[in-house]
Order: sequence, then C-alpha cells, then structure tokens
Amino acid sequence: MFGHHPVWVNIDLPTKRYVLHRECTYTNRICETPYKGVGRLKRDGGWIRFRNAEIAMKRLKEEYDQFECSIHCK
Ligand SMILES: [Zn+2]
Repeated sequence: MFGHHPVWVNIDLPTKRYVLHRECTYTNRICETPYKGVGRLKRDGGWIRFRNAEIAMKRLKEEYDQFECSIHCK
C-alpha cells in the first residue's frame, strides 16, 4: 500500500470520508460533477491525485483529521 504508486483519494465532505484508490472501476470513471471536482474540491469534495499513499495519508492527518479513512483498492 505505501509504495511509490500514485493514488486517487475520494474526499467526501458531507460524509467526512477519505477513501484511497489505486486503480479500479471507480478511478476509471472519474469525472467532474456539479458538486464533486477532479483535482480540486467543490461543495461536496472531489477526487484528488497524490504522488503516493504516504503523501495522501500525510494530508489526511494534516487537514482531514476528523474524517474516516479507508482503502478501497490496493
Ligand atoms: Zn478503488
């Protein structure tokens, strides 16, 4: 998990969830919606790309301390 592979994080603000993905059916279908951004956060959050899982976890601790974190796919 904590390798050198880039990860996507689905940051969901209403439910306070922080979900890590590497590659799966969800990441293959990422697209911007009115309330969810790609590469930026909108009202309900968004999909953010990180260079690796360690950096994503660091961001979680720094900015999303209250969020429930889970790993969707490794
Ligand atoms: Zn996934």
